[in-house]
Amino acid sequence: SFLRYEAGHKSPEFDTFFDYSNEGGLMGLIEKCNGSGDCRKTEITGGTMCPSYMATRDEMATTRARANVLRELLSRKDLKNPFDQADIYKVLDLCLSCKACKSECPSSVDMAKIKAEFLQHWYEHHRIPIRSLLIANISRINSLGMLFPALFNWFATAKLTSSLLKRMLGFATKRSIPTLGKTTLRKWAGRNLESLNTALPPDAPEVVLYVDEFSNYNDSALGITAIRLLNRLGIRILIVKHPVSGRTYLSKGLLKKSRQIARKNVELLSSVVNSERPLVGIEPSAILGFRDEFPELVGTDMIGRAKELAEHCMTIEEYLDNAFEKHIFDNSLFTKEKARIKLHGHCQQKAIASTEPTMRILSIPENYSVQEIPSGCCGMAGSFGFEKEHYELSMEVGELVLFPAVREADTDALVVAPGTSCRHQIGDGTGRQAFHPVEVLYGALL
Ligand code: SF4
Ligand code: SF4
Repeated sequence: SFLRYEAGHKSPEFDTFFDYSNEGGLMGLIEKCNGSGDCRKTEITGGTMCPSYMATRDEMATTRARANVLRELLSRKDLKNPFDQADIYKVLDLCLSCKACKSECPSSVDMAKIKAEFLQHWYEHHRIPIRSLLIANISRINSLGMLFPALFNWFATAKLTSSLLKRMLGFATKRSIPTLGKTTLRKWAGRNLESLNTALPPDAPEVVLYVDEFSNYNDSALGITAIRLLNRLGIRILIVKHPVSGRTYLSKGLLKKSRQIARKNVELLSSVVNSERPLVGIEPSAILGFRDEFPELVGTDMIGRAKELAEHCMTIEEYLDNAFEKHIFDNSLFTKEKARIKLHGHCQQKAIASTEPTMRILSIPENYSVQEIPSGCCGMAGSFGFEKEHYELSMEVGELVLFPAVREADTDALVVAPGTSCRHQIGDGTGRQAFHPVEVLYGALL
């Protein structure tokens, strides 16, 4: 009860990078926490919130503790910059930015948004760690690596060089480093897309494919499969110039840069995307930024355009589900063989969208049966699980439900996860390969 405000208390107001007009300001969002403790879910009760508490069973690792510390310390009147407090940094450090609190907390305390906001203010007074800069700029590094992808991959995977790199940069030595594809998705599409599209009737439905940085560099084979699948289903694909999704900058709290990226994306894509030609994304964390963070980040002059664009942005599973519903294709194109699928949903997909479209599209082949693993967060959460001080917690989160469920799955069952980090975590934690839903559907085509 010592956290109660005195009578006449007035919460401070801050200049912020995100828009909080729907939440009564940054403090309004923090103060929405009513102490109910729903963020103390466990692997037995199910749900995702809050993975750091689930693994540690420590109150300081709950959303509630983070909200309480923020409320108390940001209200201090004796500091010129209340954001410059190491205790806030510390309590937010184990937040995986999974977004589960945005959807599962009864008051929708969006701690991932608050953490990113805090970090950008913190960096006004503190040096941005080199590791954070590297993670944020990973697509630039990957772009250079694509000059000699085989050499890059050798460095990333050879025992000695990989271990040296990880030690120097502060990554967990037990982690495997994501490797590069043989080509970029953009390059492949530049060579092949036109001829694929030409074979389609002129009135074929159209989508704009969002070439996120993960599908472009690391998972280009998956991106190619997504294009081939859409083409076989009779859907014309457009690829336009746009910047990266900004997810790596958002996850490190580099909101100034994230805002520039969000604005550029909205500017370039809002003129080509509409209800007849939606923007479709392969990696959930990248495409869902258009619906979640971008409208709150672009600034008041662009908020209308960002919101309108958000209405036409969807995951590839949402698009395919919709297309199947509208009879754009039917299940006669798919095998009648049996398959069992274990699905692990992506955290942001669960918080901002839903796993239901993924479940439905994986059931389009008539003898495929899909079971969702009640797994919450996988523990990787972008770069979180790569960082040496977070590795143990990351694996503990994975061990709560996901890893045992994957290990127990029959050897012929397909493990499916739409998120690139989740697939990496499943590989590192269980040694089993997980697939994106489009890979499963493409493999099921006759
Ligand atoms: S963060 Fe949400 S779930 Fe947790 S105590 Fe506060 S209101 Fe309840
Ligand atoms: S974003 Fe995830 S890890 Fe962070 S407080 Fe919310 S539920 Fe917990």
